[in-house]
Amino acid sequence: MSQPAEVVSSKISQLFHYINGERVAGNSGRFGDIFNPSLGVRAAEVPLASKAEVEDTIAAAQEAFPAWAATSVLARSRIMTKFVHLLYEHQHELAELVCKEHGKVIEDAMGSVLRGIEVVEFACGAPHQQKGEFSDNVARGIDIYSMRKPLGVVAGITPFNFPAMIPLWMSGMALVTGNTVVLKPSEKDPSCPLRMAELFVEAGGPPGVFNVINGDKEAVDALLNDERIKAVSFVGSTPIAQYVYATASANGKRCQAMGGAKNHMLILPDAELEDVANALMGAAYGSAGERCMSISVGVCVGDEVADRLIDILKPRVESLRIGSSLDTGLEMGPLVTKEHREKVMNYIQMAKDEGSLLVVDGRDFVCDGHENGYFLGGSLIDQVKPEMQSYQEEIFGPVLQIIRVGSFDEGMALATDHPFGNGTSIFTKNGAAARTFADKVEVGMVGINVPIPVPLAFHSFGGWKSSSFGDHNQYGMEGLRFYTKVKTVTARWQDKGLEAEFSMPVLK
Ligand code: NAD
Repeated sequence: MSQPAEVVSSKISQLFHYINGERVAGNSGRFGDIFNPSLGVRAAEVPLASKAEVEDTIAAAQEAFPAWAATSVLARSRIMTKFVHLLYEHQHELAELVCKEHGKVIEDAMGSVLRGIEVVEFACGAPHQQKGEFSDNVARGIDIYSMRKPLGVVAGITPFNFPAMIPLWMSGMALVTGNTVVLKPSEKDPSCPLRMAELFVEAGGPPGVFNVINGDKEAVDALLNDERIKAVSFVGSTPIAQYVYATASANGKRCQAMGGAKNHMLILPDAELEDVANALMGAAYGSAGERCMSISVGVCVGDEVADRLIDILKPRVESLRIGSSLDTGLEMGPLVTKEHREKVMNYIQMAKDEGSLLVVDGRDFVCDGHENGYFLGGSLIDQVKPEMQSYQEEIFGPVLQIIRVGSFDEGMALATDHPFGNGTSIFTKNGAAARTFADKVEVGMVGINVPIPVPLAFHSFGGWKSSSFGDHNQYGMEGLRFYTKVKTVTARWQDKGLEAEFSMPVLK
């Protein structure tokens, strides 16, 4: 069992930046608090970088860039392979850091570390992936070939909810393609990305190639406004994603900015409701609903489906196994901070005030032995209507809202018309309905009898509408394209001399 709050409350760790292969204390004089959400205590302090500190970090990455870009892709890939081995060796340590600062339960944290490592494994294939194209003899003696070149110094700005996986999504593809990285992780849980950057250097990554600078808006703005940063990859809430995308683009940078979500599961009358309930329990309440691919809305076609499903879900939501992150065999841990828990509680109240029905209200849940932790029970809300604010907005907590619709078309329209378009899923035995749904629904990632359709590392991740701004998805070949620019060479090698040609070639 974890230690009770009184035992650990006196130990406050001092975190750092990781710049040029070294831990750096930071000199801005500003610090952010990091909490252990299971215990509800301040556990660490993180330095929040000033603009000048961010600029120094960019300078270190800029200096490291030419040599790293000139390193052969095979050599970079070998370092990434060693990095993968070290990540596996340290996966439990990394997962524990996630548990202590984020609050995921240990099994889930291990899974999130694995999903990140898989992207680095994919990145090890860069010698093949980064190959250019070649067309020989396109005219007499002329060949055309293209190369994929790194961009330079690139920035990653990441959210609190996946402190291992999302930094690895970005850095895996950025590093192997020859860029140097300045990562600005969430100030709520930066220990895991700091440790991963150290492991990269242990794997043989040159100092300055992978840097982590901690901070808040001041650090983000410094990255967005520095002309040495050539690309920005952001994942976080929609208002900040919009701001980052607009500012980075206005400053001439390549930018991909992933935002919030409200993911619908459409449940047709022919679906096996026990399977649906199993899928929904994990997809709505796993990681306390703090996943951008969580299912937050169950759309039931017909009252009978809704009534039967709620009968199955209610006792299961009431008896979710909730506890301290490092204890095993649990289904859900605490929320990340007290403020975030309050925000989720306010949404539950809003849903009630708007006229929906609180079938299970998780607000009164108390975790025995961890009374100060930021826990909430699961909430299940029925009779939700599309015009309600609690439906329109992202709640990002262990709350499942149920909407009843009269038909498949009406259900699909809900997911299509919602401002967010990250993920969605359909549960049915009807292949034609599933196919139509996958084809027509205006959402970026679709599951068919799969509740959380996060694509594996060799595909790519990205939503539509207010869930994503910019042209490229994360990781897979999309990641490779985001982190490289194409140069195309047209070369003539022939024995005879050149003649002057004033017109473009015509058909003869
Ligand atoms: P957030 O937007 O508050 O923070 C994300 C990053 O932006 C952090 O590094 C933070 O320091 C920085 N930031 C915060 N406020 C800023 C400001 N005013 N100016 C500049 N930078 C700022 O998001 P969060 O609460 O850490 O993460 C949860 C959100 O992320 C949810 O909305 C979730 O849906 C979303 N998310 C989306 C995806 C996706 O791929 N679409 C994946 C994971 C999480």
